[in-house]
Amino acid sequence: MNRPHVLAALAATLGLGSAPLAAQSPAETPAMTALVGGSVVDVDSGKTIGDAVVLIEGEKIVRVGPSASIEVPPSAKIVRMDGKWLVPGLMNMHVHFGLKLPGAEGAELMNEKDGEQALRMAANAHRTLLAGVTTVRLTAEDRGLDFMLKRAIGKGQAIGPRIESAGELIVPTGGHGSLEADGPAELSKAARLQIKAGASWIKIAISGGISDTHGDISAAPMTDSELSTIIEVAHRNGVKVTAHNGSSEAALQALKFGVDCFEHGYHLNDEVLTEMKKQGTWLVPTIVVSQPGAYEFYRKIGSPDWYLERVASTGKDHWAVLQKAIRMGVNVALGTDQFPFEPNGGTTATVAEAELYQKAGMTHLQALQAATIRPAAMLGVDKSVGRIVAGQYADIIAVAADPTKDISALRTLDFVMKGGVIYRNDTAPETVVR
Ligand SMILES: [Zn+2]
Repeated sequence: MNRPHVLAALAATLGLGSAPLAAQSPAETPAMTALVGGSVVDVDSGKTIGDAVVLIEGEKIVRVGPSASIEVPPSAKIVRMDGKWLVPGLMNMHVHFGLKLPGAEGAELMNEKDGEQALRMAANAHRTLLAGVTTVRLTAEDRGLDFMLKRAIGKGQAIGPRIESAGELIVPTGGHGSLEADGPAELSKAARLQIKAGASWIKIAISGGISDTHGDISAAPMTDSELSTIIEVAHRNGVKVTAHNGSSEAALQALKFGVDCFEHGYHLNDEVLTEMKKQGTWLVPTIVVSQPGAYEFYRKIGSPDWYLERVASTGKDHWAVLQKAIRMGVNVALGTDQFPFEPNGGTTATVAEAELYQKAGMTHLQALQAATIRPAAMLGVDKSVGRIVAGQYADIIAVAADPTKDISALRTLDFVMKGGVIYRNDTAPETVVR
């Protein structure tokens, strides 16, 4: 399999590497790999298979079971997993690989060219995968760079997770996003253009955001005909719609027209949560962005004081909404709105997010599900990823303790496989394909 690192490719293009590209590509993936001796976690039931074998052929899992019941073919590459728990690859449903926030670091990126941004996004995708996140949903990127990156990963020209993308964020003029469209006709066109470019979701902003300097976060600026039309157009194309939202009024309006998912949910009231539960609407909380673990990050990127104050005041409401949503049984899929690998509270934003779900009322198993099979179900890809079972893609991570007993076990993540290829194995680096 030809999977040269994007930076290696760049170095070769610039004449920095002496070896030709082909020589820098990793060795062929063996036809069969056997992960032997670990405990395989069934994320549906929370049960584990001890001393297990996971047999992988090409990109897919072909057999899973106790060592005693599975004969490992002599040709298989054997990777020992003793003392580890094998879990499906993590999924993060609110990611921007090209993220720019207010502050010194964001200001430096103001004049970033598309080529520079694409390379930065590729580097972020690589770090995301190494942090154990094997599937992401991109919730707003610029000028189709996300679709280019997705294709590059598919061709082995860049390394990163599986990508579902909402393309560009569609908003009414003056809204919280870049692609402005007004009235049913313009909004239909905007949605269709994103779907044509490769979007498998449509993202709209139906209220302001924490980082906006104008407008009221609780306002509902879209008209009924605008909202109903864009949702209808997406659904007629088999594409789901998610809404950036901090306003209960706007949420109720969108629910009336069958919106599929809300991001953040900073200030949703009981009426909204009840309706979400009834309709099965998803909530992607991104709770890490408003909680103290993220303050270190905001200071690092030089966020202005007004931003930090907004984060702190939003944080209390955000936490209360999350607790209530969990108690009411609203569908929750993990998303961070920070880079999935971003340091947060001594771990990554992705793991910190899952820990916060448990603190807000989920069981440890439910928090693990919110990071694996729940997002897979939300994306509609749970037949192919999200579980360690025969027939699914071999997207597997390993940790040093049972995460169904303590979600913080995810902090010990030290092994990442995607599509049968080992990208990280801290205890046996020689098994990694480079
Ligand atoms: Zn976001």
